[in-house]
Amino acid sequence: MSSSRVLVLNSGSSSVKYQLLDMRDSSRLAVGLVERIGEETSRLKHTPLASGGESREWTGAIADHEAALKAVSAELTKDGLGLDSPELAAIGHRVVHGGKHFTEPTVIDDAVLAEIERLIPVAPLHNPANLTGIRTASALRPDLPQVAVFDTAFHTTMPESAARYAIDVETADAHRIRRYGFHGTSHAYVSRATAELLGKAPEDVNVIVLHLGNGASASAVRGGKCVDTSMGLTPLEGLVMGTRSGDMDPAVIFHLARVGGMSIAEIDTLLNKKSGLIGLCGDNDMREIRRRIDEGDERAQLAFDIYIHRLKKYIGAYYAVLGRVDAIAFTAGVGENAAPVREAAVAGLEQLGLAVDAELNAVRGDEARLISPAGARVAVAVVPTDEELEIATQTYALVGKGNG
Ligand code: AMP
Repeated sequence: MSSSRVLVLNSGSSSVKYQLLDMRDSSRLAVGLVERIGEETSRLKHTPLASGGESREWTGAIADHEAALKAVSAELTKDGLGLDSPELAAIGHRVVHGGKHFTEPTVIDDAVLAEIERLIPVAPLHNPANLTGIRTASALRPDLPQVAVFDTAFHTTMPESAARYAIDVETADAHRIRRYGFHGTSHAYVSRATAELLGKAPEDVNVIVLHLGNGASASAVRGGKCVDTSMGLTPLEGLVMGTRSGDMDPAVIFHLARVGGMSIAEIDTLLNKKSGLIGLCGDNDMREIRRRIDEGDERAQLAFDIYIHRLKKYIGAYYAVLGRVDAIAFTAGVGENAAPVREAAVAGLEQLGLAVDAELNAVRGDEARLISPAGARVAVAVVPTDEELEIATQTYALVGKGNG
């Protein structure tokens, strides 16, 4: 029997999200998540899409990632899709930080594990959880290829002029300080899908991708390769996000420490968890912010305006970096759903060939679509991202040959 299934695992510190896909037609057989691992009230939600069955939910204590994966496997087994199936070709893991080293999806062995571990100082929140997921999955199926797909990989093509901070080179190198970028799997998928929407090859198209979710990042993609992106050493740099500040004068940190008396840990929490939209107006959900604006709420309006101002600056910056832009693609929760954000982001940029058609912008849907007026010089597109499909595709491309 051919092995055509790929299990995609996204392991966080207290959660595991998973999808099982059949790569013959890229269909989803099952999706689910385990949350609050390590607590008494862990929750597993499993949806067996292949059989069209109802979602199953279970709440109880799930002690650790091993118990979580075993619970997932038990759910999959009920649908005849267990992890022990010979039809499973590989497990693809989302790994947040691959540093400079990992430029492509990589079959995991001891050396790869050691390198992901070595990168923990630059990804202290994410890489340990990703490693736990990999080790747990490897223990359950030691015979199966495990593949790491890195959030940073797509950005490793950035030139040094974009990747380096203008700080002392020896200090930067000693601490591996450079701009790595994140959301790379999404930027890769969306830039390719945008070229497809235009009926062109990725090599022939320059795209600005705006990944606007709770975390948000922009990238400049020339001929299928990333040449700049807004996140840096960590996901804190760049756009205004749900709870992160994005760009600001680094001296704000010295000021908060010296004058505000805050500790480094407190400042870290402030900038990553209590800033951005939530810091500005108390809400990080764009739906709620729009609702408040409609009611005349001035704080919500100011938060929206700051968000849009930053977004517009990045569109302008990446336009200049690319020189010629064929398309701007909006993606992720805000980018795919918030028409007022898309409208405001390109408002007044007609001189750059940028505009949205109000009627097309108002259309909702799951498909990639154009929202610019017919004949526009630069296409503006809404392109739903699909990071799990991209991870499965990259994983299968690496290990699928010889299986099927
Ligand atoms: P993501 O991180 O890609 O899952 O995006 C999550 C964010 O998308 C939420 O915090 C919301 O701000 C935003 N979002 C989701 N649905 C909508 C919607 N219908 N309208 C506006 N914003 C939305």
